[in-house]
Amino acid sequence: MLPRISTAVAIKAVLVLFWSRLGSLNALEGVARARFWSRWLKGPLCSVDTVSDIHAVVDVEALREGIHYVYQRLKRNKALPDVAGLAVAVLDGHESHSSYLRHCAGCLQRTIHTPRGDRIQYYHRHVALMLLAGTPGSRPPIRLLLDHEPQRPGEDEVTAAMRLLQRVLVRYPRAFDVVLADGLYATAPFFNFLLDRRKQVLAVLKDERRNIYQDVAGLFDRVVPCAGEHRGRQCRWWDFPELVSWPQVKVPLRVIRSQETYTVRRQLTHQSTQETSDWIWVTSLSTSQATTERAVCLGHQRWDVENHGFNELVNDWGADHVFRHDPNAIEAFLLVAFLAYNLFHAFLALNLKPQIRRGKPQIFWVRLVSAELYSDPGIGGLDSS
Ligand SMILES: [Zn+2]
Repeated sequence: MLPRISTAVAIKAVLVLFWSRLGSLNALEGVARARFWSRWLKGPLCSVDTVSDIHAVVDVEALREGIHYVYQRLKRNKALPDVAGLAVAVLDGHESHSSYLRHCAGCLQRTIHTPRGDRIQYYHRHVALMLLAGTPGSRPPIRLLLDHEPQRPGEDEVTAAMRLLQRVLVRYPRAFDVVLADGLYATAPFFNFLLDRRKQVLAVLKDERRNIYQDVAGLFDRVVPCAGEHRGRQCRWWDFPELVSWPQVKVPLRVIRSQETYTVRRQLTHQSTQETSDWIWVTSLSTSQATTERAVCLGHQRWDVENHGFNELVNDWGADHVFRHDPNAIEAFLLVAFLAYNLFHAFLALNLKPQIRRGKPQIFWVRLVSAELYSDPGIGGLDSS
């Protein structure tokens, strides 16, 4: 068993690895002698092999508890207000990496047909839940990555998501009222699962075979839509509440469609063209819980987990990197990435005065953290020691 102090050292080191976007344990090793560590860790940094070993055995529930602690502190400080009376969470699946060569007990696998024959590809997927809080005043909104659950071999994403929610709802019973999700989640078991737990759902409706879809499809031509506007786009909205054509779901459902027109200026020709996008959502939210306009907003907020969650974590934070190919290590490194993400954004939104924050992109603060590591790397000590 590794001593407790090493666990804290390893987790705190990986938080800095993410904040400074080092990208790998090798890069961490490169700055292992920086004087920064003795201030941050109250002692020396352990070897990167130890950092890796600790993540392979660390209790992932303790990491989840750490994320919950941050949530609780922010909630008590009223930093996570509802949006128009609703607390919103968004759920989505993400494939973190794939490989033909390396695999572990947690790998999923699929057959890829190549010109040189079929090959087995190994990969990892997880489902993540992000909390979307309101924005009082001019500060940036705080989005918290609450938890993730690895998808296990032989199960689908929705099953993994329900296991995730089961755990999250014990730890965060009142953190959110409604869950947003993509079309994959428009299933009766998923809707009923949340309704049984007094939560509402809003999901993309794209399965044209569903009775409820066919029902409303017949109405679109006959019912005059309302004119609306969403983020500067002119919209035509249809809103059909109290639909009973999906009897497997325990409550009547509501279908909302938003046809949105916007102008795109082509770079090549400098011509402006009109584009239209068409969205259909199914939800358990009643018209008194969310107006049409609010429901359309929620429908679009589903993308926040992609745009502000996965995209940022993967492209900017390097969170898809396999620091160690082991099921517990992959789960643990990603939870530490979530913790780093939450603390970083909460710090930017709440601890910095607007006049200090203004005009500085995220990368400015990242470089400031990196500067701590590189300004006094402790390399001089190598020769003299
Ligand atoms: Zn694996």
